[in-house]
Amino acid sequence: MSVVDQVPETRQPASQPQQQREAHKVLQGKKALITGGSRGIGRATVLALAEAGADVAINYQRCGDAAEDVCRAARKLEVHANLFQADIAREADAQRMVNAILDEFGGIDILVNNAGITRDKTFLKMGRALWDEVLEVNLTGTFNVTRAILPGMVERGWGRVINLASIVGQTGNFGQINYAVSKGGLIAFTMTLAREVARRGVTVNAVAPGFIDTDMTKGMPEAALAAVQAMTPMGRLGRPDEIAAAVLFLATPQASYITGQVLPVNGGMYM
Ligand code: NAP
Repeated sequence: MSVVDQVPETRQPASQPQQQREAHKVLQGKKALITGGSRGIGRATVLALAEAGADVAINYQRCGDAAEDVCRAARKLEVHANLFQADIAREADAQRMVNAILDEFGGIDILVNNAGITRDKTFLKMGRALWDEVLEVNLTGTFNVTRAILPGMVERGWGRVINLASIVGQTGNFGQINYAVSKGGLIAFTMTLAREVARRGVTVNAVAPGFIDTDMTKGMPEAALAAVQAMTPMGRLGRPDEIAAAVLFLATPQASYITGQVLPVNGGMYM
């Protein structure tokens, strides 16, 4: 929670045309938590939800400067926005963060479980440390944050949980067994939780991106990236805002009859 109060609030009285625009903001009055909101898809999602009128709690782990930048950009959209540092893989840290968010925001209506990491090696070269690290962030981190947020959603009878899975969780991928298992696990997590809370006003869905132009894919060898593009019918990587648009849709009241689904956003790479 180190930088919570360091970014100045810039909410200003809305002019009349602004008020008319805001009347159409589909997430006005909603409060969202985006894990891993400092960079890439998380950053784009923070801004898409804020643009739609949601107040945003932005979690990050290490990149405080990048997170402050996102927070400033969200505040320019005239929503309440603040930063919450935590390593979601550590249960006590995740709970501490959620307590601080609930104190400040009063409740969370939309949870985007976006934070994720890769630690690639082929199976024969993969030791337990890399296996554990990826599962602890991608899967257990999602458990930790969702476990802390969901009771409030159930109590209020409305909620949206949106998990960032991956095409790799649907197809497997050479050299990514830890990551693929974590994302396949998130798909099972999504379907199971969706069944459990379907009658409580809470929907649970996943977005499964293909290969998206973020820091995560910047580390891939050029030949691998060229192969990905060749295998993608659209012939290019996706953009973070193209994933954020799918998350935004699932977060809206209009997506009320969709639950337990995995929405692929992959340029046609897997169909
Ligand atoms: P990215 O650019 O590498 O950003 C990862 C984000 O996760 C950062 O904000 C990082 O925070 C945060 N994070 C990592 N470990 C964390 C932890 N222990 N606790 C809290 N936050 C943590 O990743 P991305 O490409 O935007 O990916 C976002 C999500 O989409 C991930 O779940 C990823 O698996 C999934 N996805 C990505 C792609 C792709 O091609 N990029 C494809 C399919 C699925 P700090 O920077 O502050 O440390």
